[in-house]
Amino acid sequence: MGLEGIIKSHILGLEPYQPGKPVEELERELGIEGCIKLASNESAIGPSPKAMAAIREALEGVHRYPDGASFALRERLSSRLEVDPEQLVFGAGADEILELLAKVLLGPGDEAVFAWPSFAMYPVVVQGMGATSIRVPLTEDLTHDLPEISAAVTDRTRLIFVCNPNNPTGTSVGAEAFDRFVESLPKTVVLAIDEAYYEFVRRTDFPDSLKWVGRRPGTIALRTFSKIFGLAGLRIGFGIADLELAGYLQQARHPFNVNRLAEVAALAALEDVEHAERARSTNSEGADYLHSELGALGIETWPTDANFLLAKAGADTAGRLLREGIIVRALNGFGMPDHIRISIGLPEENERLVKTLRRLREGGL
Ligand SMILES: *Cc1c(COP(=O)(O)O)cnc(C)c1O
Repeated sequence: MGLEGIIKSHILGLEPYQPGKPVEELERELGIEGCIKLASNESAIGPSPKAMAAIREALEGVHRYPDGASFALRERLSSRLEVDPEQLVFGAGADEILELLAKVLLGPGDEAVFAWPSFAMYPVVVQGMGATSIRVPLTEDLTHDLPEISAAVTDRTRLIFVCNPNNPTGTSVGAEAFDRFVESLPKTVVLAIDEAYYEFVRRTDFPDSLKWVGRRPGTIALRTFSKIFGLAGLRIGFGIADLELAGYLQQARHPFNVNRLAEVAALAALEDVEHAERARSTNSEGADYLHSELGALGIETWPTDANFLLAKAGADTAGRLLREGIIVRALNGFGMPDHIRISIGLPEENERLVKTLRRLREGGL
């Protein structure tokens, strides 16, 4: 069509986010059934039955626009988190909150600083506004290099993303290092603490992000219903910010960005404490199992506080697993061709992965 001349140059250069391959697509390609997906950090145990019941009940009302204020969910979450209801900003996934942050803070000439490898959406939302990504390499043990992130802040920096636990490594930073880091930041940058995996965290000294939201203007913690609550397909997440920042994000938000079904499902999922507990314990046992079994195969893994783990399984392992009907995440795009990211599955899925990796290692395939 020849639109290149009028499309924004930063959009022309965008590298689109590469989502994990859907199971149905792989089954079609291989002509087999029973493929498993351990690639997108989705809930291993599926959605809460209470959330599903709430969705069914709400179906009758889908001709109505959603409650643009997410009133019921806002009230429930604010009392649970002990924050002012107006500190909450809801989005179509935490992804939309990332995008809103970029929209209100970034333009050409501005910089956003984040660790790398980290969540692949950060450079997408930054470049989407024509701003510049400053990527700070992870340390040797693949954790955030917080002093280097702090040192990378300039007078052009508007936004810092800290992904804790970090995707795709699963590693996390503790309270002591984190608190020192926040104290080192100038007042004029917004700090976004991405806690998409918050509910899976096992370390006991995990930072208290909400303490900083309460203390430091321009701080936001991001959470989501996509991971432990098993609602990735409905698209709902939220940010908890100081009142001023929350206000700007609300101003930039579309009025009906969160759909009706997502709102009722999220509320019901929050009430289903037993289901979230089961997701957490299934994940915790799966993490221990995979660490020890992969270790026994001579595959290096990293400690994880999330629902996935990083494994140094050798070049093209993801491709070879794919041909065996198992989808994991290749990390070539991060310059880590020897590593894969494995979403922790149900026990039988984890066992199938281990068995297949063992066969691949023994050269049987
Ligand atoms: C999954 C994920 C998100 C957000 O997911 P949504 O489905 O958009 O809520 C945000 N950050 C990280 C690091 C994630 O892994």
